[in-house]
Amino acid sequence: MAYTVLARKYRPQVFREMVGQEHVLKALINALDHNRLHHAYLFTGTRGVGKTTVARVLAKCFNCDQGVSSEPCGVCSACQEIAEGRSVDLIEVDAASRTKVEDTRELLENVQYAPTRSRFKIYLIDEVHMLSSHSFNALLKTLEEPPEHAKFLLATTDPQKLPATILSRCLQFHLKNLSPDRISAYLAHVLEREMIQAEPAALAELGRAAEGSMRDALSLTDQAIAFGGGQVRAADVSSMLGSIGSGNVLPVLDALQLGQAKAMLDAVGILAEHGADFGQVIDTLLQWLHQIALCQWVPATLEQAQVDAQALARLADAMAPQDVQLYYQMLSSGRPEVVSSSDPKASFEMLLLRLLAFRPAIAFSEELVDFAVSPTQNPVPSTSSSGVDASQDSPRRDARPQVLDTDNVGATGESSVESPVLDSTPPWDEPSEVAAEADVNSHSYEPATEPDWTGSADPETEETNAKKPEAVAPLESLGAPFTLSVASWPAAFIDLGLTGILYNVASHCECVRVTDTAADFCLDERNASLFNESHVAKLESALAQAEGVARKVSVVLGSVRETPAGWLQRRDEARLQRATEAITNDPVVQALCQTFDAHVVPNSIKTRLH
Ligand SMILES: [Zn+2]
Repeated sequence: MAYTVLARKYRPQVFREMVGQEHVLKALINALDHNRLHHAYLFTGTRGVGKTTVARVLAKCFNCDQGVSSEPCGVCSACQEIAEGRSVDLIEVDAASRTKVEDTRELLENVQYAPTRSRFKIYLIDEVHMLSSHSFNALLKTLEEPPEHAKFLLATTDPQKLPATILSRCLQFHLKNLSPDRISAYLAHVLEREMIQAEPAALAELGRAAEGSMRDALSLTDQAIAFGGGQVRAADVSSMLGSIGSGNVLPVLDALQLGQAKAMLDAVGILAEHGADFGQVIDTLLQWLHQIALCQWVPATLEQAQVDAQALARLADAMAPQDVQLYYQMLSSGRPEVVSSSDPKASFEMLLLRLLAFRPAIAFSEELVDFAVSPTQNPVPSTSSSGVDASQDSPRRDARPQVLDTDNVGATGESSVESPVLDSTPPWDEPSEVAAEADVNSHSYEPATEPDWTGSADPETEETNAKKPEAVAPLESLGAPFTLSVASWPAAFIDLGLTGILYNVASHCECVRVTDTAADFCLDERNASLFNESHVAKLESALAQAEGVARKVSVVLGSVRETPAGWLQRRDEARLQRATEAITNDPVVQALCQTFDAHVVPNSIKTRLH
């Protein structure tokens, strides 16, 4: 059976199946149930929020053989023909597609003829602001004296471009962007019905990337399912969207929490070497801090964690609530300065050091130094860097606020020390702050002193987490100044710093021609569902900004050979290969395997960044 894309499969057929837009639906349902019908409706809102979906359901409400109602039957021939897009009395026009615009005037000239089979002759005109002026005039004339049997359902992303004469003749409804939470909750529902496993962090990231559009969210989810071989994983979603992935800022947070300036700067160094965008890094840190704060004040929210729940619980436990607030505030206000800096890495480092410098005064006492050890949650006495360095760099741990002792708030540092779970767990099952960074998700073992088993790091250098990843392999980006050419495009793409859907679309483009004034791309037609015209202008300006050369960008759909997506996939495979070799050959791993009869779980090795 052919795979039906989710957006089509889950397109709402009746109002009650729609997510969000309650304000619009309520008004429509009310009017329909009281038979107060208007002859022209205008739906506005950004793309993918459901304008034409509402319009099609409304068309069924008007034309259902069972009579006009807010609950069309869905089974009569009128309902079915509309659902399948073959109703002769529902005339759909996409004003954005140039081929059809010339027909529009002619279509409108036929408006006086009665509907063929149904109650009403319904015109659904999408992106109505793009109609030619001739068509506009014809539409206006019709709206001035509409025949009894005609209904007009107009949709636009840009109502500002509609003349007041049209606006004044329509009943107008504005559809809102869907919130990321709303979208990820719906995706969870869809994937459950599809019996597809999905990580909450992956759904949260899809929800954010969709920027309010359910259609885009579902298209991205289709891609993620294909990418993950039937599962929706956070790492895959991050790599599809060029986002750094929420887990990759954990070393920064851990070092911040422990007051370890050096480890923090090392973590920044690693992010920089992987070409991370520091605006995005800050956004991800903010997301973590928000989740940490929620978790501290309402522990139940941990169950819906949008980031790694284990790490979240650990950090919520270890960080003082007032620190979390301060970090959030300082990172938010420092973000513009990092993003606009000519040296974002340096600016980001200064911002992080400022967080350390401005932390509330730290009390020194034996007890509080003990506290500093607890966040590692390492039940065995450890000589690894974590606890000791904490007291050296900054013997942190201010007294907790009173409120923390109440039942409302998550566990305090003390309770984690006493946690019976921790005491009874073998050390290699326990996450420690460096383990989280190393991202070796083996559940069979995870040593207390962790080598940096990322694809790009030298396992020998790990102990202090100090040294930077090793020399670049052939498949690594060289970080040279951005230059666009057909040959450079696949590797240079990552340096553009695109994110989200634009990243996704551009990563599936092959560069086919570059001249002094133009750059032509071919977008993989199998991955074109998220593409819209606005991406051309955005890519054009991103390229101009990166290279300082303005070129006219064109994008056509077709089949492609070499794209950034393909290049990145090969690079990641190469990194994974190196990581696997590093782990297999590591003397500590080999000793553990022999002593405890342990083994490395296949497929559990992951590289840190995509
Ligand atoms: Zn019906």
